[in-house]
Amino acid sequence: MYDPITLHSPEERLNDPDLTEQSVELWVKRDDMIHPFISGNKWRKLRYPIQEMRQFGKHQLVTFGGAWSNHLLACAAAGARFGIKTSAFVRGEPVDNPVLGMCRLFGMKLRFVDRSAYREKKELFARHYDANQAYFLDEGGYGPSGARGCSELIDELRQSYDHIVVAAGTGTTAAGLQQGIWKQQLSTQLHVVPVLKGAHFLLEEIRNLGTDPADLCFHWDYHFSGYAKVKPELLNFIQQFIATTGIMIEPTYTGKMIYAVYDLIRKGYFRRDSRILCIHTGGLTGLLGQLAHFDTIWENPEQ
Ligand SMILES: *Cc1c(COP(=O)(O)O)cnc(C)c1O
Repeated sequence: MYDPITLHSPEERLNDPDLTEQSVELWVKRDDMIHPFISGNKWRKLRYPIQEMRQFGKHQLVTFGGAWSNHLLACAAAGARFGIKTSAFVRGEPVDNPVLGMCRLFGMKLRFVDRSAYREKKELFARHYDANQAYFLDEGGYGPSGARGCSELIDELRQSYDHIVVAAGTGTTAAGLQQGIWKQQLSTQLHVVPVLKGAHFLLEEIRNLGTDPADLCFHWDYHFSGYAKVKPELLNFIQQFIATTGIMIEPTYTGKMIYAVYDLIRKGYFRRDSRILCIHTGGLTGLLGQLAHFDTIWENPEQ
């Protein structure tokens, strides 16, 4: 089978004294180590769409995202690596930033569209591209092929876990992980931390991918006011976590997810002796736009 990236994503145990005190085992699945730019769940979501493109003889990938989208960067890097032309519709006014700059370096063509036009993705695609040549990939890699790629993470696990925890944007990764859990007939409970505020649309999106959202356990209260929003409490936690574990996380996805896990552990949510696995979904280039948020911490180091 076509498998052009050799997966390297170990499961690592965190040895935090607080965790020992609470008598839980916490592990991290290091999908951030898969690739620096085609990182985390983004490679898992891209794998089958790229395979389908080859099958149907399509040479151009067309996708959608915001100006700091990890998905756009992953598509751009994958396109460069696998000889696929990539184009993206970027939401909002023309801007430049390090993520878009790297997308351009990988050869991606960017087209900025205002928010109302951006909503009509199929229409934008139909107006600018020939569906026989170009492949439509939804924002964030949302879709059943993406979920299928994510389901394979479960097949890689080297031991059993009572709980698996993942952040959710579109819910594709969560839907896929649950499909993997079924396929392997595991009793593992999947926990989902939505990073958007008022993200109940996720239930429908997950159902549309063939997963019953009732099988998932949602933790709705860790969005910190919304997508890419941060609070000092979250930033302090992230800074502490990075400095004590050596594992880089960022405020938009993985920071909120790991914060949620520690908060739930502290509140005694998980039974004693539970073994918990956090999925590090990568996306660290997003940090490039958020480092300035940490300035307040560095100005008051003893806080
Ligand atoms: C894109 C992204 C997610 C969201 O994944 P979905 O499948 O859209 O829910 C989570 N974490 C990181 C780091 C991401 O870049």
